Formats: sequence, structure tokens, C-alpha cells
Amino acid sequence: MAKKKALITGILGQDGAYLAKLLLERGYDVHGAARPSASWNDWRLRELGIAERVTIEAFDLLDYENIRRLVDRVRPQEVYNFAAQSLVGSSFEQPLYTADADAMGVLRLLEVCRSVNPAIRFYQASSSEMFGGVSAVAFNESAPFHPRSPYAVAKVFAHHATVNYREAYGLHASAGILFNHESPLRGRQFVTRKITSTLAEIKAGANVTLRLGNLAAKRDWGFAGDFVEAIHQMICAERADDYVIATGRTRSVRDFVGAASAALGFDLDWCGSGIAETARERRSGRVIVEIAEEFFRPVEVETQLGDAGKARRALHWAPSVEFETLVMMMARADYDRVMSGRALM
Ligand code: NDP
Ligand code: GDP
Repeated sequence: MAKKKALITGILGQDGAYLAKLLLERGYDVHGAARPSASWNDWRLRELGIAERVTIEAFDLLDYENIRRLVDRVRPQEVYNFAAQSLVGSSFEQPLYTADADAMGVLRLLEVCRSVNPAIRFYQASSSEMFGGVSAVAFNESAPFHPRSPYAVAKVFAHHATVNYREAYGLHASAGILFNHESPLRGRQFVTRKITSTLAEIKAGANVTLRLGNLAAKRDWGFAGDFVEAIHQMICAERADDYVIATGRTRSVRDFVGAASAALGFDLDWCGSGIAETARERRSGRVIVEIAEEFFRPVEVETQLGDAGKARRALHWAPSVEFETLVMMMARADYDRVMSGRALM
């Protein structure tokens, strides 16, 4: 039997790499799409040992003709759209670009799938940021959207476009509303990996300080490896639908710093408050963490908590990695990278 062919946009990012590994293990022919570049930075694919097993194609969410030619040539049965300007903080600096890539880019891709082969199964990477986080209850698929960043506004458009193509044209188009998911392959601009990579550098003797913004923000943090499993189950399901994917537990950025410090053997002593708060290593008195205005956002999503009950019932999905294990995994991976002289990407 011929192998199933999948096209993963954003393959060089965290989720693209984990999903590529999962699909290869399941016998797929994996094509990845990445922004045109003289030399693709495939460090995540290399860390997972799959760089030689995927075909990477040049692709830009901003360019309709390029997307059409690519899908027409590759002829995938499944398209997973992970490509995006994915940084919430940067979206306040680049709102127009974010909308063009994260909203219009998805419409371009949907339109291409519809015209090239409406039998393509399509996955859209929707985000818990669409909910906003103005209430302390767990969000499920029926919760109203209240986007609080240009990133979230664009993701809401893309989400509705995905549902619309399913309803209007019968496309097998699913959207996973994923809460934050992390791993040793997370980008260093995100707070979790920023924390583990910087603490690992300090542990190894580097003269740096961990500078953070809002320590009180709470996120429902899961493991990316678990979350791509749910994504594949959505694509394989008989009926396309939308699913919240989350762990159902929420922790603060301060909790994450505490767990990562413990994982790396730091005993922190917090003192001061607000912008003047610091954390010192109790033994040496050295400042490890300080607060910096520049990492606060114009408007913040304070609390995120997801209810993945529908995915549990319909897809039989459940997360397998606990918060403490996730933090430990990330801290150890960064410490190993630093100690073996590998660059922190
Ligand atoms: P990453 O930032 O790691 O990966 C996104 C990829 O998209 C990058 O490789 C980036 O390439 C690429 N990209 C950016 N702009 C364009 C463009 N114009 N054309 C083509 N490619 C582009 O994100 P994740 O893997 O963590 O997330 C995957 C998807 O899931 C994203 O859409 C994200 O918004 C969404 N999501 C993620 C969550 C999470 O917690 N990880 C939670 C909810 C949703 P380059 O490196 O060149 O910039
Ligand atoms: P997000 O949930 O997609 O925005 O993921 P991030 O990892 O970028 O941010 C998670 C939370 O950490 C947000 O509430 C941020 O405001 C907060 N945060 C606090 N300090 C920092 C920081 O230095 N960098 C980032 N990226 N976020 C920070």
C-alpha cells in the first residue's frame, strides 16, 4: 500500500518537529514546509534524529501562488498548519504582519486545499489565547472568545475560517485549541525555555541574570509530545471537529521558576515586590532572577486553564507528562546542552 503523505507547515518549529517524528513512526511520507532560506535551521529535527527523513519545501504563508504550487506538486492527503508568527509579545510590535500570516495565511491555505483537492484533511493550530483568560473557570469548546493580543485576534479569524470551510465546503478541517505546550525543543523566547536555558547557563558558571516580566501569570502547561498525539487523532477521526487540548492544571510563572530552580539545585530566596522583586541564591547571595519592565505586555492574559473533556471522551486522549516531569526534562536538556558545549538554540 502506498504511504500516506502529510505536509506539515512550520516543520522547523517545536510542534512541527514532534509531529514529523510521530508521523514517520506511523509510516508516513513527511513533507515539511518552511520559510525560504539559504540554510534551514533544522536543529529540532536533528535533535530528534529525523532531519534526513523529511523533505523540506520552501513555503511562505504570505504568498498564495507559492502555497498553491506547493500543495499541487506535493499532493498531500493531510495538511497540518503549524506555521505562524507564534509569539504573543511580538504580535504587539508586528500586528499587521501577524494578521497577514496568522489570519490571512490560513485563509490562503484553506482556499488552496479546497481548489487543489477538497478531500485533503486539514488541521489548524488554534490557540487558547483566543479565550483571553479573564475568568478562572476552565475553558472548553463552548467558551466565548475574548482575544487580548494581535496574535489572538488573528488566531480567532483563522479558527472561524477553518470551521467555515468545514461547514460551507465539507472540508475535513479540524482546529485544535491547544493550551501552552512546552518541551526541550521550545523556542527560547517563550518563558518556560527562557527560564530553563538561562538557569542552566548560570548553573554552568555564566555571568547572566534571568530577567522576567509578569511572574503572576498562570498557564496550563503540557508537553508538546503529548499534544501532537491529540492532533493526529483529530486528523484520523471520521468527522472533523474542534477540540480543546490541555492538562487541566494551571501554574504561575513563579511556580515554573521554582520548579526549574529546584531541578537545577538552586535554593532561591525571594525578596522585594513589584518591579523591585529579586530572587537570590540563598548560599552565595547572588541575584539569579530580576524583574524587567520590557517583558510586560500592554495587556495580559492572567490565567489560563483548559478542559479537555471532549478530547478525552471522543479521541480517548489524555496527557501523560506531569508539570514537574516536564520542567525537569527541560532543565536537564538545557544543562546537558550547556555542559557538552552545544549552542543553546
Ligand atoms: P514555533 O514558533 O516553534 O513554530 C512556528 C513556525 O512557523 C516557525 O518555524 C516559523 O518559522 C514558521 N513561520 C513563521 N512565519 C511564517 C511564514 N510567514 N511562512 C511560513 N512559516 C512561517 O511554534 P510551535 O511549534 O510552538 O506552535 C505551532 C503552532 O501552534 C503555531 O501556529 C502556534 O501559534 C500554535 N500554538 C502553539 C502553542 C504552544 O504552546 N506551542 C499553543 C497554541 C497554539 P521561522 O523560524 O522562520 O520564524
Ligand atoms: P504565551 O502564553 O503564548 O504568551 O507564552 P509565553 O511563554 O510567551 O508567556 C507566558 C506568560 O509568561 C505570559 O503571561 C507572559 O507575560 C509571562 N512572562 C513573564 N516573563 C516573561 C518573559 O520574560 N518572556 C515571555 N515570553 N513571557 C513572560
